[in-house]
Amino acid sequence: MDREWSINDFEIGKPLGKGKFGRVYVAREVKSKFVVALKVIFKEQLEKYKFHHQLRREMEIQISLKHPNVLHLYGWFHDSERVFLILEYAHNGELYKELSKRGHFSEKQAATYILSLTEALTYCHENHVIHRDIKPENLLLDHEGRLKIADFGWSVQSKDKRKTMCGTLDYLAPEMVENKTHDYAVDNWTLGILCYEFLYGVPPFEAESQADTFERIKKVDLSFPPSPLVSSDAKNLISRLLVKDSSRRLSLQKIMEHPWIIKNANRMGVC
Ligand code: AMP
Repeated sequence: MDREWSINDFEIGKPLGKGKFGRVYVAREVKSKFVVALKVIFKEQLEKYKFHHQLRREMEIQISLKHPNVLHLYGWFHDSERVFLILEYAHNGELYKELSKRGHFSEKQAATYILSLTEALTYCHENHVIHRDIKPENLLLDHEGRLKIADFGWSVQSKDKRKTMCGTLDYLAPEMVENKTHDYAVDNWTLGILCYEFLYGVPPFEAESQADTFERIKKVDLSFPPSPLVSSDAKNLISRLLVKDSSRRLSLQKIMEHPWIIKNANRMGVC
């Protein structure tokens, strides 16, 4: 897809969803019939929210990442009013919808998603990208049910420690809540949160108010409701990721070697 594109190269199909800055449609490249997702962003919106720099950064990061569990950005183009992002089409949509529909996932499904995420994050970290906004809404599923990390809006390409408050509340690591510097280990924390949410259907530090969630995160106020469906291996993995001291969180390598992952995950990434 290495060429100059315009809207005339695509047949536009049904809308897939609406984001903060525009709409996403399924589309087909006219000549090759290759199906993609086309994200349309209005320049007026970008200017209103002073988002251009961030979008450019997001695009540069996503275009450079090539991994089976990272949603591929093939290219982009613009006209006088709009910017178009040509994205890999994730046929099965948001993981979040799947989770809401089912209430929670089985250990096999949860472990497969956690392994796919760990492999994708290993790749991102090797390329000096911290995602920082991994949450179910940013995870999409392709036609085979393979997980794809989408939306690099909050990610940074950095070799340094960072200090910016960002991300969605329930998934924030304590060092981000406390506004301290943070590094790659924030994504490892998030894997613990997601693993819990995949198995129990709710994130571990959910509370009535933002302030209460912050308090629970800071204290690492973690408890496991009784469930015959969640094994002690799963709880062990979660407890070793939700550790306040970021340097003591299980590494991505150790997650891949954890008995719960070994026992339950499908290495092909399909559930
Ligand atoms: P976004 O603007 O990225 O938040 O996208 C809005 C919605 O469009 C998402 O919540 C998804 O449901 C859908 N969507 C975005 N990108 C894709 C894609 N590549 N494939 C399928 N659906 C997508």
